[in-house]
Amino acid sequence: MKFDQARWSRDDAPVYEPLLSESDDRTVEVDVDLPDDLTRNELTLPDPAEPQLARHYTRLSEMTYGVEHGPYPLGSCTMKYNPWYVEDLAADPNALVHPDRSDEAAQGILAVMHRLQEDLAAIGGMDAVTLQPPAGAAGEFAGILIAKAYHEANGDDRSEVIVPDTAHGTNFASAAMGGYEVVELPSGEDGRVDVDALEGALSEDTAALMLTNPNTLGLFERDIEEIADLVHDVGGLLYYDGANLNALLGRARPGDMGFDVMHYNVHKTFATPHGGGGPGAGPVGVAERLAEFLPDPHVRKTTGAGEDSERAGEDSERAGATIPTFERYTPEHSIGKVHGFDGNWLVLLKAAAYIARLGDEGLSDASAKAVLNANYLASQLHYDVPYGPFHHEFVASAGDRDAAEVAKRMLDHGVHPPTTKWPEIVPEALMTEPTEVESRDSLDQLAAAFDAVQAEDDETLANAPERTAAKRIDQTSAARNPRLCWQDLDGEE
Ligand SMILES: *Cc1c(COP(=O)(O)O)cnc(C)c1O
Repeated sequence: MKFDQARWSRDDAPVYEPLLSESDDRTVEVDVDLPDDLTRNELTLPDPAEPQLARHYTRLSEMTYGVEHGPYPLGSCTMKYNPWYVEDLAADPNALVHPDRSDEAAQGILAVMHRLQEDLAAIGGMDAVTLQPPAGAAGEFAGILIAKAYHEANGDDRSEVIVPDTAHGTNFASAAMGGYEVVELPSGEDGRVDVDALEGALSEDTAALMLTNPNTLGLFERDIEEIADLVHDVGGLLYYDGANLNALLGRARPGDMGFDVMHYNVHKTFATPHGGGGPGAGPVGVAERLAEFLPDPHVRKTTGAGEDSERAGEDSERAGATIPTFERYTPEHSIGKVHGFDGNWLVLLKAAAYIARLGDEGLSDASAKAVLNANYLASQLHYDVPYGPFHHEFVASAGDRDAAEVAKRMLDHGVHPPTTKWPEIVPEALMTEPTEVESRDSLDQLAAAFDAVQAEDDETLANAPERTAAKRIDQTSAARNPRLCWQDLDGEE
Protein backbone atom coordinates (compact mmCIF):
# COMPACT_ATOMS: atom_id res chain seq x y z
CA MET A 1 0.00 0.00 0.00
CA LYS A 2 0.99 3.63 -0.35
CA PHE A 3 1.20 6.34 2.27
CA ASP A 4 0.88 9.91 1.07
CA GLN A 5 3.25 12.51 2.34
CA ALA A 6 1.62 13.59 5.59
CA ARG A 7 -0.74 16.46 4.93
CA TRP A 8 -1.94 17.98 8.19
CA SER A 9 -4.89 20.20 7.71
CA ARG A 10 -7.88 21.26 9.68
CA ASP A 11 -10.52 23.83 8.84
CA ASP A 12 -10.20 25.90 11.99
CA ALA A 13 -6.49 25.41 12.56
CA PRO A 14 -3.41 26.44 10.62
CA VAL A 15 -2.40 24.15 7.81
CA TYR A 16 0.93 22.47 8.28
CA GLU A 17 2.63 22.78 4.94
CA PRO A 18 3.95 19.52 3.61
CA LEU A 19 7.71 19.52 3.37
CA LEU A 20 7.42 18.70 -0.29
CA SER A 21 5.00 20.15 -2.78
CA GLU A 22 2.14 18.08 -4.14
CA SER A 23 3.97 17.56 -7.38
CA ASP A 24 6.86 15.77 -5.70
CA ASP A 25 6.00 12.14 -5.86
CA ARG A 26 7.53 11.12 -2.57
CA THR A 27 5.41 8.17 -1.53
CA VAL A 28 6.81 5.38 0.57
CA GLU A 29 6.19 1.81 -0.46
CA VAL A 30 5.46 -0.31 2.58
CA ASP A 31 4.85 -3.99 2.16
CA VAL A 32 2.27 -4.52 4.89
CA ASP A 33 -1.45 -4.89 4.73
CA LEU A 34 -2.84 -2.51 7.35
CA PRO A 35 -6.57 -2.57 8.07
CA ASP A 36 -8.44 0.41 6.62
CA ASP A 37 -9.70 1.60 9.99
CA LEU A 38 -6.12 2.01 11.19
CA THR A 39 -4.91 4.10 8.29
CA ARG A 40 -5.59 7.72 7.37
CA ASN A 41 -4.55 10.34 4.92
CA GLU A 42 -5.13 13.34 7.14
CA LEU A 43 -4.08 14.23 10.63
CA THR A 44 -5.57 17.13 12.56
CA LEU A 45 -3.66 18.36 15.56
CA PRO A 46 -4.44 21.00 18.18
CA ASP A 47 -2.44 24.18 17.85
CA PRO A 48 -2.32 25.90 21.23
CA ALA A 49 -0.06 28.84 22.02
CA GLU A 50 2.61 28.30 24.67
CA PRO A 51 0.63 29.70 27.63
CA GLN A 52 -2.32 27.43 26.80
CA LEU A 53 0.01 24.49 26.56
CA ALA A 54 1.72 25.27 29.87
CA ARG A 55 -1.65 25.66 31.59
CA HIS A 56 -2.93 22.45 30.06
CA TYR A 57 -0.09 20.34 31.42
CA THR A 58 0.00 22.09 34.77
CA ARG A 59 -3.71 21.46 35.13
CA LEU A 60 -3.30 17.80 34.22
CA SER A 61 -0.52 17.44 36.78
CA GLU A 62 -2.81 18.91 39.43
CA MET A 63 -5.58 16.47 38.58
CA THR A 64 -3.51 13.50 39.57
CA TYR A 65 -1.43 12.42 42.53
CA GLY A 66 2.26 11.72 42.08
CA VAL A 67 5.33 11.00 44.18
CA GLU A 68 6.05 14.71 44.16
CA HIS A 69 2.72 15.45 45.85
CA GLY A 70 3.14 13.25 48.89
CA PRO A 71 3.57 9.69 50.15
CA TYR A 72 2.76 6.99 47.62
CA PRO A 73 2.85 3.65 49.46
CA LEU A 74 1.98 1.22 46.66
CA GLY A 75 2.98 -2.18 47.97
CA SER A 76 5.13 -4.30 45.67
CA CYS A 77 5.18 -1.62 43.02
CA THR A 78 7.68 0.52 44.94
CA MET A 79 6.79 4.03 43.89
CA LYS A 80 9.45 6.28 45.31
CA TYR A 81 10.77 9.73 44.67
CA ASN A 82 13.51 9.80 42.05
CA PRO A 83 16.19 12.42 42.62
CA TRP A 84 16.60 15.03 39.90
CA TYR A 85 20.32 14.61 39.35
CA VAL A 86 19.68 11.40 37.44
CA GLU A 87 17.33 13.29 35.12
CA ASP A 88 19.91 16.00 34.57
CA LEU A 89 22.47 13.40 33.57
CA ALA A 90 20.16 11.70 31.13
CA ALA A 91 19.28 15.09 29.61
CA ASP A 92 22.94 15.91 28.98
CA PRO A 93 23.47 16.15 25.22
CA ASN A 94 26.60 14.00 25.60
CA ALA A 95 24.44 11.14 26.85
CA LEU A 96 22.28 11.22 23.73
CA VAL A 97 24.36 8.76 21.77
CA HIS A 98 22.86 7.28 18.62
CA PRO A 99 22.24 3.59 19.39
CA ASP A 100 23.78 2.49 16.11
CA ARG A 101 27.20 3.96 16.88
CA SER A 102 30.09 1.55 16.50
CA ASP A 103 31.78 0.08 19.56
CA GLU A 104 34.76 2.31 18.89
CA ALA A 105 32.65 5.46 18.88
CA ALA A 106 30.53 4.41 21.87
CA GLN A 107 33.26 3.63 24.40
CA GLY A 108 31.79 5.98 26.99
CA ILE A 109 28.39 4.38 27.09
CA LEU A 110 29.85 0.87 26.89
CA ALA A 111 32.04 1.69 29.90
CA VAL A 112 29.01 2.88 31.89
CA MET A 113 27.00 -0.17 30.84
CA HIS A 114 29.83 -2.52 31.76
CA ARG A 115 30.11 -0.92 35.16
CA LEU A 116 26.36 -1.17 35.69
CA GLN A 117 26.45 -4.86 34.70
CA GLU A 118 29.13 -5.39 37.32
CA ASP A 119 27.45 -3.29 40.00
CA LEU A 120 24.15 -5.09 39.58
CA ALA A 121 25.94 -8.45 39.58
CA ALA A 122 27.66 -7.48 42.85
CA ILE A 123 24.36 -6.31 44.38
CA GLY A 124 22.54 -9.52 43.42
CA GLY A 125 25.40 -11.95 43.96
CA MET A 126 25.19 -12.94 40.30
CA ASP A 127 28.02 -13.70 37.87
CA ALA A 128 26.74 -11.89 34.80
CA VAL A 129 24.02 -9.33 34.07
CA THR A 130 22.26 -8.28 30.86
CA LEU A 131 20.81 -4.78 30.68
CA GLN A 132 18.63 -5.44 27.64
CA PRO A 133 15.05 -6.14 28.79
CA PRO A 134 12.81 -3.03 28.83
CA ALA A 135 10.72 -3.78 31.96
CA GLY A 136 10.52 -6.07 34.95
CA ALA A 137 8.06 -8.39 33.22
CA ALA A 138 10.25 -8.41 30.11
CA GLY A 139 13.22 -9.32 32.33
CA GLU A 140 11.28 -12.19 33.85
CA PHE A 141 10.38 -13.46 30.41
CA ALA A 142 14.02 -13.22 29.28
CA GLY A 143 15.11 -15.00 32.49
CA ILE A 144 12.65 -17.83 31.83
CA LEU A 145 13.89 -18.12 28.22
CA ILE A 146 17.47 -18.31 29.54
CA ALA A 147 16.47 -21.07 31.98
CA LYS A 148 14.73 -22.90 29.16
CA ALA A 149 17.73 -22.59 26.82
CA TYR A 150 19.96 -23.92 29.59
CA HIS A 151 17.80 -27.00 30.14
CA GLU A 152 17.53 -27.62 26.41
CA ALA A 153 21.28 -27.34 25.97
CA ASN A 154 21.59 -30.09 28.58
CA GLY A 155 19.15 -32.21 26.62
CA ASP A 156 16.74 -31.79 29.49
CA ASP A 157 13.07 -31.64 28.60
CA ARG A 158 11.19 -29.98 31.46
CA SER A 159 7.62 -28.77 31.32
CA GLU A 160 6.74 -27.03 34.59
CA VAL A 161 7.47 -23.82 36.46
CA ILE A 162 6.33 -23.57 40.08
CA VAL A 163 5.00 -20.21 41.30
CA PRO A 164 3.73 -19.47 44.86
CA ASP A 165 0.18 -18.11 45.15
CA THR A 166 1.51 -14.84 46.60
CA ALA A 167 3.68 -14.18 43.53
CA HIS A 168 3.27 -11.15 41.31
CA GLY A 169 0.94 -11.84 38.37
CA THR A 170 3.77 -11.38 35.90
CA ASN A 171 5.48 -14.54 37.25
CA PHE A 172 2.58 -16.69 36.10
CA ALA A 173 2.47 -14.86 32.77
CA SER A 174 6.22 -15.12 32.10
CA ALA A 175 6.27 -18.84 32.82
CA ALA A 176 3.24 -19.43 30.60
CA MET A 177 4.67 -17.29 27.79
CA GLY A 178 7.88 -19.29 28.05
CA GLY A 179 5.81 -22.34 27.14
CA TYR A 180 5.64 -23.83 30.62
CA GLU A 181 2.81 -25.29 32.58
CA VAL A 182 2.39 -23.18 35.71
CA VAL A 183 2.09 -25.05 39.00
CA GLU A 184 0.65 -22.80 41.71
CA LEU A 185 2.08 -23.40 45.15
CA PRO A 186 -0.22 -22.60 48.11
CA SER A 187 1.40 -20.62 50.95
CA GLY A 188 1.89 -22.09 54.38
CA GLU A 189 0.04 -20.81 57.45
CA ASP A 190 2.85 -18.39 58.24
CA GLY A 191 2.57 -16.74 54.80
CA ARG A 192 5.78 -18.33 53.57
CA VAL A 193 6.59 -21.21 51.21
CA ASP A 194 5.22 -24.46 52.62
CA VAL A 195 8.27 -26.70 52.26
CA ASP A 196 6.23 -29.92 52.36
CA ALA A 197 3.93 -28.64 49.63
CA LEU A 198 7.00 -27.64 47.61
CA GLU A 199 8.48 -31.12 47.95
CA GLY A 200 5.21 -32.51 46.68
CA ALA A 201 5.23 -30.19 43.67
CA LEU A 202 8.87 -30.70 42.66
CA SER A 203 9.76 -33.35 40.11
CA GLU A 204 12.01 -34.11 37.15
CA ASP A 205 9.59 -31.93 35.18
CA THR A 206 10.41 -28.83 37.23
CA ALA A 207 12.28 -26.30 35.11
CA ALA A 208 12.27 -23.61 37.79
CA LEU A 209 10.75 -22.29 40.98
CA MET A 210 10.06 -18.54 40.85
CA LEU A 211 10.30 -16.83 44.23
CA THR A 212 10.59 -13.38 45.65
CA ASN A 213 12.30 -12.96 48.99
CA PRO A 214 11.14 -11.13 51.06
CA ASN A 215 7.85 -12.24 49.54
CA THR A 216 4.95 -9.96 48.68
CA LEU A 217 3.77 -10.12 52.30
CA GLY A 218 7.09 -8.54 53.23
CA LEU A 219 8.23 -11.80 54.89
CA PHE A 220 11.67 -13.33 54.56
CA GLU A 221 11.69 -16.97 53.42
CA ARG A 222 13.74 -18.36 56.28
CA ASP A 223 13.94 -21.79 54.68
CA ILE A 224 15.52 -20.43 51.53
CA GLU A 225 18.63 -22.62 51.74
CA GLU A 226 16.58 -25.78 52.13
CA ILE A 227 14.27 -24.60 49.32
CA ALA A 228 17.28 -24.01 47.05
CA ASP A 229 18.64 -27.50 47.80
CA LEU A 230 15.28 -29.12 47.08
CA VAL A 231 14.96 -27.34 43.73
CA HIS A 232 18.55 -28.07 42.72
CA ASP A 233 18.25 -31.72 43.77
CA VAL A 234 15.65 -32.33 41.07
CA GLY A 235 17.75 -30.40 38.53
CA GLY A 236 15.55 -27.29 38.55
CA LEU A 237 16.67 -23.66 38.63
CA LEU A 238 15.77 -21.10 41.26
CA TYR A 239 14.41 -17.84 39.79
CA TYR A 240 14.46 -14.69 41.91
CA ASP A 241 11.89 -11.99 41.29
CA GLY A 242 14.06 -9.04 42.26
CA ALA A 243 11.56 -6.33 41.36
CA ASN A 244 11.68 -5.03 44.92
CA LEU A 245 15.24 -5.27 46.15
CA ASN A 246 14.79 -2.45 48.63
CA ALA A 247 14.92 -4.71 51.65
CA LEU A 248 18.10 -6.50 50.58
CA LEU A 249 20.40 -3.82 49.17
CA GLY A 250 23.84 -4.18 50.65
CA ARG A 251 22.63 -6.71 53.22
CA ALA A 252 21.77 -9.99 51.55
CA ARG A 253 22.17 -11.30 48.01
CA PRO A 254 19.91 -13.66 46.06
CA GLY A 255 23.00 -15.35 44.60
CA ASP A 256 24.19 -16.25 48.09
CA MET A 257 20.76 -17.71 48.90
CA GLY A 258 21.11 -20.14 45.99
CA PHE A 259 19.22 -18.30 43.24
CA ASP A 260 20.45 -18.99 39.70
CA VAL A 261 18.68 -16.27 37.73
CA MET A 262 16.96 -13.03 38.70
CA HIS A 263 15.64 -9.77 37.33
CA TYR A 264 16.03 -6.27 38.76
CA ASN A 265 13.50 -3.47 38.38
CA VAL A 266 15.66 -0.38 38.19
CA HIS A 267 12.45 1.70 38.39
CA LYS A 268 11.57 0.25 41.76
CA THR A 269 14.95 0.07 43.39
CA PHE A 270 17.37 2.33 41.56
CA ALA A 271 15.56 5.62 40.97
CA THR A 272 14.49 5.43 37.35
CA PRO A 273 10.94 6.29 36.25
CA HIS A 274 8.35 3.55 35.94
CA GLY A 275 8.11 2.73 32.29
CA GLY A 276 4.49 1.73 31.91
CA GLY A 277 5.46 -1.72 30.72
CA GLY A 278 7.96 -0.72 28.07
CA PRO A 279 10.37 2.20 28.13
CA GLY A 280 12.01 1.14 31.38
CA ALA A 281 14.65 -1.44 32.15
CA GLY A 282 14.56 -4.86 33.79
CA PRO A 283 18.12 -6.22 33.78
CA VAL A 284 18.62 -9.95 34.33
CA GLY A 285 21.40 -11.53 36.39
CA VAL A 286 22.53 -15.14 36.08
CA ALA A 287 24.93 -17.61 37.65
CA GLU A 288 28.05 -18.52 35.70
CA ARG A 289 26.60 -21.62 34.05
CA LEU A 290 23.81 -19.55 32.48
CA ALA A 291 26.00 -16.67 31.25
CA GLU A 292 26.45 -18.05 27.73
CA PHE A 293 22.68 -17.85 27.18
CA LEU A 294 22.34 -14.11 27.84
CA PRO A 295 20.67 -11.92 25.20
CA ASP A 296 22.52 -10.35 22.32
CA PRO A 297 24.47 -8.08 22.52
CA HIS A 298 26.35 -8.24 25.80
CA VAL A 299 29.11 -5.82 26.84
CA ARG A 300 32.58 -6.96 27.86
CA LYS A 301 35.99 -5.49 28.54
CA THR A 302 38.46 -6.12 25.74
CA THR A 303 41.87 -4.89 26.92
CA GLY A 304 43.60 -3.25 29.83
CA ALA A 305 44.12 -4.19 33.41
CA GLY A 306 40.68 -5.70 33.92
CA GLU A 307 40.36 -9.21 35.26
CA ASP A 308 38.54 -10.41 32.16
CA SER A 309 41.50 -9.63 29.90
CA GLU A 310 43.91 -12.45 29.24
CA ARG A 311 46.55 -10.05 28.04
CA ALA A 312 46.32 -7.79 31.07
CA GLY A 313 49.58 -8.97 32.57
CA GLU A 314 51.82 -8.53 29.56
CA ASP A 315 50.18 -5.27 28.45
CA SER A 316 50.35 -3.49 31.74
CA GLU A 317 54.04 -2.76 31.16
CA ARG A 318 53.18 -0.64 28.16
CA ALA A 319 52.10 2.96 28.47
CA GLY A 320 48.33 3.39 28.15
CA ALA A 321 47.61 -0.29 28.49
CA THR A 322 45.72 0.26 31.73
CA ILE A 323 42.89 2.09 29.95
CA PRO A 324 40.25 -0.53 29.31
CA THR A 325 38.17 -0.69 26.17
CA PHE A 326 34.81 -2.33 25.75
CA GLU A 327 32.92 -4.20 23.07
CA ARG A 328 29.54 -5.66 22.34
CA TYR A 329 29.47 -9.36 21.54
CA THR A 330 27.04 -12.24 21.17
CA PRO A 331 27.27 -14.79 24.00
CA GLU A 332 27.90 -18.27 22.61
CA HIS A 333 24.44 -19.79 23.11
CA SER A 334 22.55 -16.49 23.30
CA ILE A 335 18.75 -16.61 23.41
CA GLY A 336 18.98 -13.77 20.86
CA LYS A 337 17.58 -10.29 20.92
CA VAL A 338 15.03 -9.21 23.50
CA HIS A 339 15.19 -5.49 22.69
CA GLY A 340 16.63 -3.14 20.09
CA PHE A 341 20.26 -2.07 20.34
CA ASP A 342 21.61 -1.84 23.91
CA GLY A 343 18.28 -1.74 25.75
CA ASN A 344 16.99 1.56 27.13
CA TRP A 345 20.33 3.24 27.61
CA LEU A 346 19.13 6.52 29.11
CA VAL A 347 17.11 4.64 31.75
CA LEU A 348 20.13 2.49 32.52
CA LEU A 349 22.29 5.60 32.83
CA LYS A 350 20.00 6.89 35.58
CA ALA A 351 20.30 3.62 37.49
CA ALA A 352 24.09 3.68 37.09
CA ALA A 353 24.26 7.25 38.42
CA TYR A 354 22.08 6.43 41.40
CA ILE A 355 24.13 3.37 42.35
CA ALA A 356 27.41 5.27 41.91
CA ARG A 357 26.16 8.15 44.05
CA LEU A 358 24.94 5.94 46.91
CA GLY A 359 27.75 3.42 46.92
CA ASP A 360 27.79 0.40 49.24
CA GLU A 361 27.06 2.42 52.34
CA GLY A 362 24.26 4.46 50.82
CA LEU A 363 22.56 1.38 49.40
CA SER A 364 22.60 -0.52 52.67
CA ASP A 365 21.42 2.60 54.47
CA ALA A 366 18.50 2.81 52.01
CA SER A 367 17.46 -0.77 52.74
CA ALA A 368 17.69 -0.21 56.50
CA LYS A 369 15.39 2.79 56.20
CA ALA A 370 12.96 0.99 53.87
CA VAL A 371 12.58 -1.80 56.44
CA LEU A 372 12.39 0.55 59.41
CA ASN A 373 9.76 2.68 57.68
CA ALA A 374 7.56 -0.31 56.83
CA ASN A 375 7.70 -1.65 60.38
CA TYR A 376 7.18 1.77 61.95
CA LEU A 377 4.12 2.45 59.81
CA ALA A 378 2.69 -1.03 60.46
CA SER A 379 3.09 -0.43 64.19
CA GLN A 380 1.18 2.89 64.04
CA LEU A 381 -1.96 1.60 62.33
CA HIS A 382 -5.16 0.65 64.07
CA TYR A 383 -5.81 -2.08 61.54
CA ASP A 384 -5.33 -5.79 61.69
CA VAL A 385 -1.81 -6.39 60.36
CA PRO A 386 -1.28 -10.16 60.23
CA TYR A 387 2.16 -11.78 59.90
CA GLY A 388 5.34 -9.79 60.48
CA PRO A 389 7.92 -8.61 61.38
CA PHE A 390 8.25 -7.18 57.93
CA HIS A 391 10.88 -6.15 55.47
CA HIS A 392 10.17 -3.54 52.81
CA GLU A 393 6.37 -3.82 52.96
CA PHE A 394 3.44 -5.13 54.97
CA VAL A 395 -0.15 -6.11 54.27
CA ALA A 396 -2.85 -4.72 56.54
CA SER A 397 -6.44 -5.95 56.40
CA ALA A 398 -9.41 -3.60 56.01
CA GLY A 399 -11.42 -6.24 57.91
CA ASP A 400 -15.13 -5.92 57.15
CA ARG A 401 -14.61 -2.77 55.05
CA ASP A 402 -14.04 -2.89 51.32
CA ALA A 403 -10.32 -2.28 50.80
CA ALA A 404 -11.02 -0.48 47.52
CA GLU A 405 -13.34 1.98 49.28
CA VAL A 406 -10.82 2.56 52.05
CA ALA A 407 -8.31 3.36 49.31
CA LYS A 408 -10.64 5.81 47.54
CA ARG A 409 -11.30 7.60 50.79
CA MET A 410 -7.60 7.90 51.61
CA LEU A 411 -7.29 10.16 48.56
CA ASP A 412 -9.65 12.59 50.32
CA HIS A 413 -7.22 12.63 53.23
CA GLY A 414 -4.46 13.81 50.95
CA VAL A 415 -2.33 10.69 50.53
CA HIS A 416 -2.05 8.06 47.85
CA PRO A 417 -3.58 4.75 48.94
CA PRO A 418 -1.71 1.46 49.06
CA THR A 419 -2.25 -1.49 46.70
CA THR A 420 -5.59 -3.18 47.43
CA LYS A 421 -7.04 -6.69 47.47
CA TRP A 422 -3.75 -8.43 46.80
CA PRO A 423 -2.24 -10.78 47.85
CA GLU A 424 -5.47 -12.66 48.40
CA ILE A 425 -4.32 -14.57 51.46
CA VAL A 426 -5.00 -11.44 53.52
CA PRO A 427 -8.73 -10.53 53.39
CA GLU A 428 -9.36 -7.02 52.00
CA ALA A 429 -5.62 -6.50 51.71
CA LEU A 430 -3.97 -3.08 51.93
CA MET A 431 -0.46 -3.78 50.73
CA THR A 432 1.73 -0.98 51.88
CA GLU A 433 5.31 -0.01 51.06
CA PRO A 434 6.36 3.40 52.32
CA THR A 435 9.97 3.05 51.00
CA GLU A 436 13.08 4.67 52.42
CA VAL A 437 12.34 8.11 51.00
CA GLU A 438 9.57 8.95 53.48
CA SER A 439 10.34 10.98 56.59
CA ARG A 440 8.82 10.20 59.95
CA ASP A 441 6.42 13.12 59.43
CA SER A 442 5.09 11.73 56.18
CA LEU A 443 4.76 8.26 57.73
CA ASP A 444 2.70 9.81 60.51
CA GLN A 445 0.61 11.61 57.88
CA LEU A 446 -0.02 8.25 56.20
CA ALA A 447 -0.93 6.57 59.48
CA ALA A 448 -3.33 9.41 60.31
CA ALA A 449 -5.03 9.00 56.92
CA PHE A 450 -5.39 5.24 57.37
CA ASP A 451 -6.89 5.68 60.82
CA ALA A 452 -9.16 8.59 59.88
CA VAL A 453 -10.78 6.42 57.22
CA GLN A 454 -11.15 3.58 59.70
CA ALA A 455 -13.29 5.84 61.91
CA GLU A 456 -15.64 6.99 59.14
CA ASP A 457 -19.08 5.58 58.29
CA ASP A 458 -19.87 3.31 55.36
CA GLU A 459 -21.73 5.97 53.41
CA THR A 460 -18.74 8.30 53.42
CA LEU A 461 -16.58 5.50 52.08
CA ALA A 462 -19.11 4.53 49.45
CA ASN A 463 -19.13 8.09 48.08
CA ALA A 464 -15.38 8.63 48.15
CA PRO A 465 -13.40 10.26 46.76
CA GLU A 466 -15.08 13.64 47.10
CA ARG A 467 -12.13 16.02 47.06
CA THR A 468 -10.32 14.83 43.95
CA ALA A 469 -10.55 16.19 40.41
CA ALA A 470 -12.19 12.98 39.21
CA LYS A 471 -14.69 11.25 41.47
CA ARG A 472 -15.28 7.50 41.49
CA ILE A 473 -14.22 6.35 38.05
CA ASP A 474 -15.15 3.19 36.23
CA GLN A 475 -11.78 1.46 36.54
CA THR A 476 -12.63 -1.40 34.24
CA SER A 477 -13.66 0.88 31.38
CA ALA A 478 -10.66 3.11 32.04
CA ALA A 479 -8.38 0.11 31.57
CA ARG A 480 -10.26 -1.52 28.71
CA ASN A 481 -11.33 1.53 26.68
CA PRO A 482 -8.70 4.15 27.38
CA ARG A 483 -9.35 7.50 25.69
CA LEU A 484 -5.90 8.79 25.03
CA CYS A 485 -6.58 11.23 22.24
CA TRP A 486 -7.44 14.91 22.69
CA GLN A 487 -10.11 14.54 19.99
CA ASP A 488 -12.09 12.15 22.17
CA LEU A 489 -12.56 14.88 24.72
CA ASP A 490 -13.20 17.66 22.23
CA GLY A 491 -16.37 19.56 23.05
CA GLU A 492 -16.99 17.67 26.27
CA GLU A 493 -15.24 19.92 28.70
C1 LIG B 1 6.47 -4.71 39.53
C2 LIG B 1 6.75 -6.13 39.72
C3 LIG B 1 7.01 -6.97 38.61
C4 LIG B 1 6.89 -6.51 37.16
O1 LIG B 1 7.68 -5.42 36.82
P1 LIG B 1 7.27 -4.39 35.66
O2 LIG B 1 8.46 -3.52 35.45
O3 LIG B 1 6.07 -3.66 36.15
O4 LIG B 1 6.96 -5.20 34.42
C5 LIG B 1 7.34 -8.28 38.88
N1 LIG B 1 7.39 -8.76 40.13
C6 LIG B 1 7.14 -7.98 41.22
C7 LIG B 1 7.23 -8.57 42.60
C8 LIG B 1 6.81 -6.65 41.04
O5 LIG B 1 6.55 -5.89 42.11
